[in-house]
This record gives sequence, C-alpha cells and structure tokens, in this order.
Amino acid sequence: MTTTTPAPRRPLILVIEDNLQNLYLVRFLLEKNGFEVAEARDGRTGLDFVATTVPDVILLDIQLPEMSGYAVAKELRKNAALRSVPIIAVTSFAMVGDRERCLEAGASDYIEKPIDPAEFVAKIRAHLAAEAAHAP
Ligand code: MN
Repeated sequence: MTTTTPAPRRPLILVIEDNLQNLYLVRFLLEKNGFEVAEARDGRTGLDFVATTVPDVILLDIQLPEMSGYAVAKELRKNAALRSVPIIAVTSFAMVGDRERCLEAGASDYIEKPIDPAEFVAKIRAHLAAEAAHAP
C-alpha cells in the first residue's frame, strides 16, 4: 500500500476587478507566488462567488461598474462566513480620506494603483499569516 502526501492547499484569492490589464497583472503576480486565483469582473459576481466559496483573501477594486467597491465591501461584511477574511481594497483614487472610506466600508487594508509587485505580494502574505495566527 502506498500513501501520498496531499499537496499543500494553495491560498485562494478572490480578485474583484473590472479592468482586464489589472486583472492579468494581479493574476500573474499571484499565480507566480503560489496562490490560486478566482476572478470576478464586477461586485455582483464577487458576491455570488462568496455565497458558495470562502476565499482566503479578497482583493477588491474600488472603481467598479454598477456597484462601487465600497458597496461591495459593505455587502461582503454582512456575510458571517467572511468575518475573518481580509478584504484588501485596491484603488487608484489619490484622494485624501479614501483609505478611511475603504476601512469604514469594511476593508481590512488598502493598496494603491499602480501596484508595486513586491509590496503587493508581501501585503497578501502578511494578511494570510495574521489570518492563520487567529485561526481556531
Ligand atoms: Mn476598476
């Protein structure tokens, strides 16, 4: 009888982003660093996704069609299953108070576009480590 060790599960990152170029960049960076990526091109699709699957981290673009990232963050935070899931807002707004607005809407953290690849990956890893440390 042989036994096989299952490969460690890759952390699942849900990326809610409408801009294809950003989506490709983020997917490339995440996959290159050992993450699994699920994509949603708008907030409603992202909300539908988390109704059945709990990702390890949610990356949330703030400038989205139909439903703003702020509104999506608020909806995500109503889902008890996502209570401990970090939501990282991604925005190109350079407005003062934007960070606060993201956090107020339920985001755990904030990344500014253009994305700095090293900083981006480090931030995701830090949130995953914090999440693991708080896991029961
Ligand atoms: Mn956008």
